[in-house]
Parts: sequence; structure tokens; C-alpha cells
Amino acid sequence: MKQRFPDFIKKILFVEILKGLALTFRTMLKPPVTRQYPKERRDPKPGFRGQHAFVRDAVTKREKCVACQKCAIVCPSRCISIRYTTDDSGARKLTKYEIDALRCIFCGYCESVCPVCAIVLTETYEYASYSRDGFLYDRERLLLNWDEFAARLKRDSYFNMFWRPAGCDVRRLPAGKREQQAIPAGRKPEAKSQKSEEENTENGRPSPSVGEGGRI
Ligand code: SF4
Ligand code: SF4
Repeated sequence: MKQRFPDFIKKILFVEILKGLALTFRTMLKPPVTRQYPKERRDPKPGFRGQHAFVRDAVTKREKCVACQKCAIVCPSRCISIRYTTDDSGARKLTKYEIDALRCIFCGYCESVCPVCAIVLTETYEYASYSRDGFLYDRERLLLNWDEFAARLKRDSYFNMFWRPAGCDVRRLPAGKREQQAIPAGRKPEAKSQKSEEENTENGRPSPSVGEGGRI
């Protein structure tokens, strides 16, 4: 009975209603928190993992991927598909690289494991498509994603930390990571995507007869 008495008084005096009205009036006097997107855009928080991209090599102007398949092996969603050819010396040449972004869970394992800093998850979050094919990123699309991301880059990107991890002995990193410098904010965009002359393609996609390594 003693516990119910305060509740009874509260109901008589409309305490909860008055509290709610006070909150309403306090909020009315504050500036709105709603953003007028797309006029008002916000920068993603550091560590945001968005659209995939192939880092464009400053020298070759192409992707740096060496077809080692580490990213495809580590990918928990199995959404990376790679094909390559091998020359007489055993060196691999990438002929197809494709990511099904609709299956990706954006874990970042692929960019962590890549020994040459080829694949990254950029901070681009505005991408959409009317068809499923629009989310199948091949080599050219991944390079284009990089060009678009690099042109907008306003701050050091979070994936720089994968290339030179703090506290890590640089001498113990793979050669590709030792050579990769951090991408600074405000850098100039690289040249636009160029088609590889030697690429063996049929209707924009690699010929099935070329590849030796299939989907893993
Ligand atoms: S972010 Fe994760 S799920 Fe997505 S492609 Fe990379 S490894 Fe696969
Ligand atoms: S881990 Fe890097 S180099 Fe190896 S296949 Fe993937 S993107 Fe290419």
C-alpha cells in the first residue's frame, strides 16, 4: 500500500504528463538535428568501411594485384572471384577480379591480408544501382572507384593504418606494404582508368579459357 501511494499522487497531479510536456518545450527551443541530405553531407567516422576499390599504382597506372588469392581465401562471404594466367617463370598475371558487393559484409579482411596494398575499402558510402550487376565490381570498376574516391579525399584515410601499422617493425612487413606510402589528404586524382592492352576479354569480361584460378 505504501508503494502505491506515491503513484496515486502522481496520477492526481499529472506529474508524468507535465514531465513529457517539459521535455517537448525544451526540445522545441533547440536547433533541429535533422540533416537535409543530400544537400548536407557528413564525413563518415574514422574506420568506416565502404565501397571497394583497387589502389591505382602511381607508376603503371593499373592495379597492383599479383593474383595471390589471399583475399579470396580469407573472405568469409566468398564474394571475391579471381582468374589468372601463369607464364613460364611461374609469375601470375591477373585476368579477372570481381567482387560481389551485395554479398560482402565489409569485414575488411581482404585489405588487411593483401600483401601489396592493392584492394581497399574506401570511405565512399553513396553508391546504388537498379540492377544486381551494378554491384559486381570488376577490375575497371574497382579502379574507377579508386579514382573517384581519391579525387574527393579530404583527410588521411583509415586504411593507411593497414599499410604502416603503428608499432610494427617495417622491416617485417611484406615488400608491397613497405613500399606503399600513406595516401595523404588533398592529393591530386590519378589519370582515369585505362584498359590493359594485353587483357584477354570477351564482351568486357575475361575469356573463360584464360583463367586457371577459379572462384574459391
Ligand atoms: S570486406 Fe570482407 S566480406 Fe567483403 S570482400 Fe573483403 S573479405 Fe570479403
Ligand atoms: S590479396 Fe591483394 S594481391 Fe592478392 S589477389 Fe587479393 S587483391 Fe590481389
